[in-house]
Amino acid sequence: MIVMKFGGTSNRDAAAMANVLRIITTHLSERPVVVISAIASATNDLEESARTAASGDAARGAESLARLHARHLAIVHALVKDSARAGNLAEAFSGYMEELTTLLHGVAILRELTPRTMDAICSYGERFSSRIIAAGLQENGVDAVWVDAKDFMLTDGNFGRALPVMDAVTLNLARVVVPLLERRQVPVTQGFIGVTASGSYTTMGRESSDYSASIIGAALDAERVQIWTDVDGILTADPQMVPDVRKVRRMSFDEAFELSYFGAKVLHPNTMLPLLEKKIPLEIRNSRRTEGTGTLIDLPGPSPGGVPLVKSISFSRDVTVVSVSPRRRTNQYLFWEGIFSILSRADIDVRTVTTSEYRIAFTIAGPHEGSTVIPRLEEFGPVTVLPEQASLCIVGSGLREWPGFAGRVFDALKGVKTSLIAFGASGLNMTVVVDSRALKDALVRLHAEFFGSSAPADEFDVPLN
Ligand code: ADP
Ligand code: ASP
Ligand code: MG
Repeated sequence: MIVMKFGGTSNRDAAAMANVLRIITTHLSERPVVVISAIASATNDLEESARTAASGDAARGAESLARLHARHLAIVHALVKDSARAGNLAEAFSGYMEELTTLLHGVAILRELTPRTMDAICSYGERFSSRIIAAGLQENGVDAVWVDAKDFMLTDGNFGRALPVMDAVTLNLARVVVPLLERRQVPVTQGFIGVTASGSYTTMGRESSDYSASIIGAALDAERVQIWTDVDGILTADPQMVPDVRKVRRMSFDEAFELSYFGAKVLHPNTMLPLLEKKIPLEIRNSRRTEGTGTLIDLPGPSPGGVPLVKSISFSRDVTVVSVSPRRRTNQYLFWEGIFSILSRADIDVRTVTTSEYRIAFTIAGPHEGSTVIPRLEEFGPVTVLPEQASLCIVGSGLREWPGFAGRVFDALKGVKTSLIAFGASGLNMTVVVDSRALKDALVRLHAEFFGSSAPADEFDVPLN
């Protein structure tokens, strides 16, 4: 069997969802389990309604909900012609709207929006969209069954970034989904959402439907997991930033992990973890151009002629560089320990670190993250904060062993002011932090350096568009 995940970009409107239905029907012989994200921007809209309600304005939150409801009903109207089926959906959606309205009222009265309530509110995006896809498949004669992730995706109670309890998910899928596959039915479920042992909806973090697909794929020992999105595969950079990108034919799990961890939106970073353990290949495919071959992510193959190769460059905006020096330059290890325990207690995810004999510098997602910890860090000594930075991450295997690599990076970035550089930890990446205003220029220059005329044709394709 295979897992097919369709993101919000593939579920934008009725035409896009009709296309998703077509793609699924061409893969029926592979016994798919279908994982659906919310329709484009639905999760943002739900988050926004919740925040508006928390500010006390329940009426405006309700208006935005009503628009979202209408968008879903319009898609149902276009895709589901059978009146009983369409009526069932409309009824289920009215029920969802009633529940959502009650939740928003509670938030507005208390003026309090806890992560638990935010997850409950956001869970509706995927519940709406997955029901439409299941009904749309039935409409096309496919024996599809809507499966609520609540019935199998057990997670911890870390609302907003829950993690699956893999053994329980595997057992639950064996009970709930395997019998459907055995009967040649097509299970359709939601990405992004899970459930605690006490029955509350959780979410695994923004963009985490990719991760849901790989959790399900690993638990069911799938032959492969497909992520269907709006680009031809993993590209050498975000096409919204660089015009002449190439498509990467193949990547290792580790390369894909580094790339997504350092900002490439195309994949949620956790996606690779369950698959790596089970050696299940991951394909990134374009739902708008099904003839494309996509990118295959699996175990590392031999690099061509053993030559190291840059595969792609990702970036993160809105980074803050923080550096701290100890008041007393002795017992360095106690200093490092103190700094990291403050950061970990504040739940701050440090992406990049460099040190000198008496100073440590690191990046945090800023500026909001810093405000809570900087006063605590100042207890150790003077702190310098450099806001409005952006990090670029150059990814490829064998970079550490490539004698000319760093020289090429520095040549390409000649004249660009860099505030932090990290290289060598994994051998797979170099991170360079620059002023935010220089981000695009730095990215375009690095891209031209590594993917200009010399990009090998057997590793990279020209995208179809
Ligand atoms: P989905 O809704 O299918 O989950 P996303 O918007 O989350 O889609 O991810 C796809 C987007 O990721 C692309 O439209 C592209 O702009 C962006 N992206 C960023 N970096 C890359 C990259 N290296 N390769 C491909 N796409 C990238
Ligand atoms: N709908 C969720 C989000 O927008 C999950 C996803 O699309 O992967 O973050
Ligand atoms: Mg996504």
